[in-house]
Amino acid sequence: MDAHPAPANLVQALRLRLPSWLPAALAVAVGYYLAARLGFALTLKPHPISTLWPPNALLAAALLLAQTRSWWWLLLAALPAHLLAELQSGVPTAMVLGWYVSNCGEALIGAAIVRAFVQGPLRLDSLRNAAIFLLGTALAAPLVSSFVDAALVHLIGWGDAAYWELVRARFFSNVLAELTIVPLIVTWAAVATSTPHETRPARYAESAALFTGLLLVCVLVFDLPHREAHASPAVYYAPLPFLLWAAALGPAASASALALMTIATIWGAVHGLGPFAGRTPQDTAREMQLFLTAATVPMLLLSVALAERSRVEREAREQRRQLTHLSRVAMLGELSGGIAHQLNQPLTAILSNAQAAQHYLANKNADPALLSEILADIVAADKRAGDVIEGLRALFKRGEAHFETLDPNRLVREVLALAQGDLATRGIEVSMRLQPNLPEVRADRVQLEQVLLNLVVNAAEAMRACPPKDRLLIVQSTATAGRIHVNVIDRGSGFKVSPEQLFEAFYTTKPQGLGLGLSISKSIVTAHGGRLRATTRRGGGAAFLVTLPALPKQ
Ligand code: ADP
Repeated sequence: MDAHPAPANLVQALRLRLPSWLPAALAVAVGYYLAARLGFALTLKPHPISTLWPPNALLAAALLLAQTRSWWWLLLAALPAHLLAELQSGVPTAMVLGWYVSNCGEALIGAAIVRAFVQGPLRLDSLRNAAIFLLGTALAAPLVSSFVDAALVHLIGWGDAAYWELVRARFFSNVLAELTIVPLIVTWAAVATSTPHETRPARYAESAALFTGLLLVCVLVFDLPHREAHASPAVYYAPLPFLLWAAALGPAASASALALMTIATIWGAVHGLGPFAGRTPQDTAREMQLFLTAATVPMLLLSVALAERSRVEREAREQRRQLTHLSRVAMLGELSGGIAHQLNQPLTAILSNAQAAQHYLANKNADPALLSEILADIVAADKRAGDVIEGLRALFKRGEAHFETLDPNRLVREVLALAQGDLATRGIEVSMRLQPNLPEVRADRVQLEQVLLNLVVNAAEAMRACPPKDRLLIVQSTATAGRIHVNVIDRGSGFKVSPEQLFEAFYTTKPQGLGLGLSISKSIVTAHGGRLRATTRRGGGAAFLVTLPALPKQ
């Protein structure tokens, strides 16, 4: 046995013995104490109630992020911090304990309401969650706890403020704290625990510019002496562009920007600066609370709405990508018989060439020139097989879109080479009518191959019932001003429905069909800035025309 465990093992052993809530409890204790100090620093003297009282909100955020079974430990962890912070301020012990109870009550009510509707740690990533947070944690919990709190103050006989005055002051102070502190902690916790992805330097520069600008504006508006008794209401709107910018960057940026503005505003008023100074402390506190609450709620909702929309769009894009890949794989499955047949040809050639070489060697009449010719044939056949597999490999892969400059005629040839085996088995003759020197296009090779392959496979399917002599597939390429056109024409059954219906997802007339090929092809072509159109031909059959913007000729 190893008497001296390695340090890593020791850390692991210690971690095993530590309860999982302990780090969170320690963080709550330290955070609560610092939040209380901040609360005192933001108190308007001699007004006894802070404009913003952050410890309760910090406690609420901790509960919202923790598992329900650790809640009691976290509330307990706040007690020493509460005693340490409050007993220094000369408040009677009974009042200090009373406030601890009402603070814990507020955090518990706020967290319990949210937990009843949202499973697991709160994430402000949907309007539903944001609404539950606003109504439960930022409105209902401060409302209930401020009645209890004011009653306790009255019972203990601390101060001489009227009951309703206490309720009102305490309510607004806590609403503002919940609105400022909880989103800040919850959104940054989500950032910290999300899967890390590379943040571009431009994003850091943008955030730096935003927060520097906001800080400057806040200092100018809220932290400088105001000469006039009442500042023009216009000054309150000065931070708005920065707050909107932050909302566009996401809930974490928005919560941070709002917290910055809140602290700057209150700090100014506490030091007799900015547009809110110069009134009674009660009036100053009330005006600031109303102003900051009115700014915070819509900005938070806006940032969450924008983030939710971009998340939904991201998910939809990913699903479309998966669907495109799935339908491509399904189509390759349809072609597999033909591809096997196509691979068989070079393999057979390799075998017969190799057998011939063996024969010459066995009879000791191998002419080196002949052997070299046989080997060249083997290499060529091997390359042909390799090309088929290479073409397939790219189509099977599910990768990001990769735009490159492509020759449309080459694309058509590659697609027909891939489908050649299938077309031959179906007895379909192919006529390639490609206009030479077509301008190039900028496109994703795999996606365009998917479109063309889909049109070719559909055309082949449509000619299944045709007499063998009519099974003709024409692939035509042409160019007009600034555009290239690829037309896939068959002499099959044609279609009876409108072209719009043909391109609808899940429209299919085939027993095993998915009905996705044409709708995906259309969205691919549209994403390339082009158009995909279908027409029936008078003499029978259908024509599908792909039009793409052409690159200017070099
Ligand atoms: P799927 O091939 O799985 O049915 P598609 O979206 O590729 O899905 O095609 C949808 C339907 O459009 C087909 O089932 C068929 O009825 C019709 N269609 C497509 N191409 C042709 C064509 N060349 N000729 C006649 N009908 C066609």
